[in-house]
Amino acid sequence: MRADERAQFDPDEQRVIRDACANGSQPFCPRCTVPMTGRPIGGGSFGLGYARRRQWLICPNCRRSALFDVKRGTRN
Ligand SMILES: [Zn+2]
Repeated sequence: MRADERAQFDPDEQRVIRDACANGSQPFCPRCTVPMTGRPIGGGSFGLGYARRRQWLICPNCRRSALFDVKRGTRN
């Protein structure tokens, strides 16, 4: 493994984070159990058809990040 390769979560860990987001709860880093910092990635320039938003979550401790799509239209 290269030292300059960006650390990432395993697929199982990404699923845990995504599930937390889908439930509307604060996602925690599965490794550090600290709250993760969310950075919404604004789409917008590709306006037509693609209403998908992406969420970028970063652990402030281990610096691992998770990027995934967030489905809109959640009914509360
Ligand atoms: Zn972490």
